[in-house]
Amino acid sequence: MNFYIMTLFPDMVMNGLGTSITGRAIEKGAIGVEAVNIRDYAINRHGQVDDAPYGGGAGQVMLAAPIIDCYEALCARIGRRPRVLYMTPQGRVFNQTVARELASEEDLVFLCGHYEGVDERTLEILNTENLSIGDYVLTGGELPAMVMIDCISRLVPGVLHNDASAEIESFHDNLLEYPQYSRPEEYRGMKVPEVLLSGHHKNIETWRRLESVRRTFDRRPDLLAGANLSKKESEYLAELRAEAAGEFSAEDF
Ligand code: SAM
Repeated sequence: MNFYIMTLFPDMVMNGLGTSITGRAIEKGAIGVEAVNIRDYAINRHGQVDDAPYGGGAGQVMLAAPIIDCYEALCARIGRRPRVLYMTPQGRVFNQTVARELASEEDLVFLCGHYEGVDERTLEILNTENLSIGDYVLTGGELPAMVMIDCISRLVPGVLHNDASAEIESFHDNLLEYPQYSRPEEYRGMKVPEVLLSGHHKNIETWRRLESVRRTFDRRPDLLAGANLSKKESEYLAELRAEAAGEFSAEDF
């Protein structure tokens, strides 16, 4: 899978994604990551890529022409016209479901805005899909693009050491992951749950699923509506709900 990032700050993106797991995935060819510098398509020899907004107001707006020329040159070079994702706080909020959907693409182009954003006509011409990483405003689209590429890459076969690990993590099945422990068995008087030391795989699996249900109930109850629970897990959830309701009414008095 190939990721192309149209940006004014190619080093920022390549330095970040060239590190650790994504860096190794690039090295072994499991993913391709290329930052394409929009400034190479500046409108004049001063490297101009932005200008003041019509109608007045603070900041600069990224011009349409350098971005469109950058995209067209990329398409001509690779012989394909990939989907363009515009990083914007005004977009659909990215999550694991969106990541899974995007992971099936062969090529993706990420457009990173800066300053006040990009001339609106760019988005219409490129027919962008608008994606956000959350309801807050950053200085540029580079970090959002890196977040999304990191997340999507983990779903690409060959990127993780053990491909199964992406399947049993938080948000799989609309549940958060169970708590994890490693050596030593006891640390500062706190012991690893007995069942994890038992070597009994079935019991461990059952314990982990119930812990996932409990953790999701405690931290992200909104997810549970979409969770696929067994009879035993549903009963456990009902118990947790009853317990919480009891606590709530006790506090009321
Ligand atoms: N004026 C824009 C607005 O109010 O919607 C915000 C521009 S922001 C300062 C500059 C650039 O950062 C945006 O064009 C976008 O590419 C990126 N950006 C900022 N926050 C983001 C977020 N939460 N998700 C994705 N991209 C974001």
